[in-house]
Amino acid sequence: MKKGLLVLCLGVLLAIVPFFVTITPYVLNIFMQAATYAIAVLGMTVVLGYAGQINLAQATFFGLGAYAVALGTIDLGLNFWITLLMAVAVSTIAGFVLGLTTLRLKGHYLAMITISFQQIFDLVLNNWIDFTHGPDGIAGIARPSLFGYAMADDRVYLLFCALVLYGAMFLVWKLPQTRTGRAMRAVRENELAAEVTGIDSLKVKVIAFTMSAALAGIGGALYASGFAYISPDNFNFARSIEFLTMVLLGGAQSPFGGALGTGLLILLPEWLRFLKEIYLAVYGIAVILIMVFLPAGIWGLITARLARLRKPVPVDTAGIPKLDIDVAITNPAPILRLDNVQKHFGGVRAVDGISLEVARGTVHALIGPNGSGKTTLLNVLNGIYRATAGAVEFDGVNITDKTPHERAGYGIGRTFQNIRLFPTMSVVENVMVGAQRPNNPIGTGYAMLRQRALSALQFVGMAEHAEVIVQSLPYGHQRLVEIARALAGHPTFLLLDEPAAGLNQTEKHALAELLKRLRGHGLTIFLIEHDIGLIENVSDRITVLNFGKKIAEGDPSYVLRHPDVIAAYLGEPSHGAA
Ligand code: ADP
Ligand code: MG
Repeated sequence: MKKGLLVLCLGVLLAIVPFFVTITPYVLNIFMQAATYAIAVLGMTVVLGYAGQINLAQATFFGLGAYAVALGTIDLGLNFWITLLMAVAVSTIAGFVLGLTTLRLKGHYLAMITISFQQIFDLVLNNWIDFTHGPDGIAGIARPSLFGYAMADDRVYLLFCALVLYGAMFLVWKLPQTRTGRAMRAVRENELAAEVTGIDSLKVKVIAFTMSAALAGIGGALYASGFAYISPDNFNFARSIEFLTMVLLGGAQSPFGGALGTGLLILLPEWLRFLKEIYLAVYGIAVILIMVFLPAGIWGLITARLARLRKPVPVDTAGIPKLDIDVAITNPAPILRLDNVQKHFGGVRAVDGISLEVARGTVHALIGPNGSGKTTLLNVLNGIYRATAGAVEFDGVNITDKTPHERAGYGIGRTFQNIRLFPTMSVVENVMVGAQRPNNPIGTGYAMLRQRALSALQFVGMAEHAEVIVQSLPYGHQRLVEIARALAGHPTFLLLDEPAAGLNQTEKHALAELLKRLRGHGLTIFLIEHDIGLIENVSDRITVLNFGKKIAEGDPSYVLRHPDVIAAYLGEPSHGAA
């Protein structure tokens, strides 16, 4: 907090310099432009940097804000502050609608749609002359007054813009530590894993897009009244690219990066003006070089350097409460019922009519040769795949058509055969995402989530690594973090897909111990595993798949000696004279 105050003081000092030093109106204009652009660029920080979604229409939202103020004050004669609210409302609604309708698309499809939206806006501005004043633009936009004081003085207005910018920076800076901000980053890092841990990824992306548009709208509103004149050229596709370049150049992961990138890209042309004709070429090359060699932007480089100097934060593991994984069993009915579930991929019947019941509080193992449909069945269970036919009933509810995040909300947790963590987030943040799943009976505040995450990490023996960036951990540790992430959500039903894969003997033993500690708490575990020793050791019941069909089921001692099972594993025909 102290650091934040210090930064704020520095910023305010910067913004009041013009009151003490003579600065030409031209330079003041440049600062005003930088401040208003930066607010729009902060939107890009949220949507692109945090949520990982491309947006090539930021100039449209900026323009909507600007035109709301221009048309509102001039054509409708409204007070600036009312038009500012209109600017925020219009850009927010536009962002929400565009986000809601397009964010199901990914990558270049999303890019294309946002470009089209940008082009439509450009056409409307230029051609709907009666309403927008057309290509001539709108002149004579007045400066607002605050508490009866007109902000006609550029220095005063710059200070006002700077204060709005600082407020926006503060919010964007704080966002990653909130539930929504963490969810955005999780979606960026691994959307599938985010869904499975209970995040409604579409909702989170729409929120990011809407916030981004709202910030652009505010920036545009201040821009219009700052420069008194706007025209369609200020809000075209090139401007959207400029906003994108600014955020990438400065560093999309932090509001400081966005502000830095904006400042640089606005000042760079001024500094390079002495180059005359070749200035654009030099400018372009400079930007390309920086982006190629600094993928995390300039601010990313600075923070990476600083992080190397900083000592790792020691985690006080002594005070962490024991993880509560108890699940009350009040109902004798099976927790999971599969009724003739099928999943086909074209002609491949990966899961071919499985009916199955899993009793509460047990460890139920699913085994079978490679390609027998185990992972596919798990994916059908937690909603990554829709079943081609059949029904899935969980805890008395038919969940056949529920999304993965809804199922997470019912208490289904899971790990993946190929680990799916949120690689650039810290260990504890990864696990906090698990803790914040919907309907988790723990509290929702930051402290509660963090404590739950630390408890889960302690349970799997990883608490001391809580502050480490998860991708720097060795493989075996990442497996444990993934289990902790699932446990932090206090699941009633835990799906583990080959948790021992890739582990060495020592780690396998530790895993077996961990699984044993999970037993007897009412938690049901559905375990896919190849290691027969481990299976025999921990499971209450085993189901065997081959070619998508169930070939055996029962107690470990019975199933593991079943001739069909042995034949399936040895690759021999189960019938006939082999
Ligand atoms: P297991 O986990 O038992 O090794 P899987 O469930 O991964 O087996 O695969 C079962 C069968 O389904 C395999 O033949 C595999 O090639 C096929 N399969 C799995 N996922 C897909 C997919 N997304 N598209 C097409 N075929 C798939
Ligand atoms: Mg598999």
